[in-house]
Amino acid sequence: MHLLVLPGDGIGPEITAATLNVLTATAARFRLDLEIEKDIVGHESLLKHGTTVRPDLLDKAKAADGLILGPAATFDFKATGNINPSAFFRKNLDLFANIRPARTYPGLPAKLGQFDLVIARENTEGFYADRNMVAGNAELLVTEDVVVSLRRITRKACARIARAAFELAATRKKHVTIVHKANVLGIGDGMFIEECRKCGKDFPDVTIDEAIVDAMMALLVRNPGRFDVIVTTNMFGDIISDMTAEASGSLGLGGSLNAGEVYAMAQAAHGSAPDIAGKDIANPFSLVLSASLLLGWYGRRKGKAAFSEAAAAIDAGVAAAIAAGEITRDIGGRLSTKQTGEALAARIGGT
Ligand code: NAD
Repeated sequence: MHLLVLPGDGIGPEITAATLNVLTATAARFRLDLEIEKDIVGHESLLKHGTTVRPDLLDKAKAADGLILGPAATFDFKATGNINPSAFFRKNLDLFANIRPARTYPGLPAKLGQFDLVIARENTEGFYADRNMVAGNAELLVTEDVVVSLRRITRKACARIARAAFELAATRKKHVTIVHKANVLGIGDGMFIEECRKCGKDFPDVTIDEAIVDAMMALLVRNPGRFDVIVTTNMFGDIISDMTAEASGSLGLGGSLNAGEVYAMAQAAHGSAPDIAGKDIANPFSLVLSASLLLGWYGRRKGKAAFSEAAAAIDAGVAAAIAAGEITRDIGGRLSTKQTGEALAARIGGT
């Protein structure tokens, strides 16, 4: 498996180094043929190449079997008019399904009770102005004092995220919750619900329910354990998934995969965390769990069981490391980012 690795900004290089450490140990144990190619995006690329994402990185990404993208300081780039690496790859590789699991772990306080759920978030349109137009940006300054932001919802995008969600639910607890704001965004979210319900007919064993997004936040805080797969549009999924990651223990546990028909990219759910960057204290498990999702995706696609087994071993290793307290301070541990990666690598690699 040829992986293109782009560490990104802030805590990106630290959590990427720890993740590569874990991947190397996992590859050795499961005899995975893993080839790592590193390149740069974000601030480092802006300084070196004058852009946060070089156009040739798209060809490199297409030539690879998968990407690992660290977080980018996207808020800074807005000021310079530069490219958001995350949006660049999601849009250009058509990574329409953002899969964001969140679960509680033995050894960590389950603030809201035990749960194990997955957000299936549409990733290529919605309110995300930097990806929902063929050309230009969907956030418009009409006058100095008036801004119009356009939200794009297409039947195709609704149908394919719905299918991804139901397929996932069929392998899990067989329950999909459709989250929307159709009471206000009646046409767009009406279409989203319609496509989800239509898709649900192909999965008679999967129970479906629906919730308006504001109420959904309350329902999640009340009892996250009653949910399995939550399917929703882009911005709602982005917001809900930070909350579910934090409810599981920390945003630093928020693993995430961006997947399309052909390509996939592992990318933690959180941002570049400038408040803790360079301190060697960030939790690397978010990116480690994202990388595990990527290995699992590759294993299923290629029919290579060793990759699926490796992914399961990483997930189990993270759970065991948490139970043993080999963790960073955001979830109550004392280890640095680097030490956490080394401990997990040793645990999985059996050294
Ligand atoms: P953030 O997700 O970076 O951080 C929010 C909080 O969570 C901070 O307190 C941070 O320290 C903590 N946190 C995040 N990841 C952690 C980890 N692995 N371990 C421990 N604690 C962790 O959100 P922000 O501060 O609002 O955004 C910072 C920058 O990241 C902005 O420029 C934003 O645009 C960008 N961003 C990028 C992505 C991406 O690249 N996918 C996603 C979200 C935000």
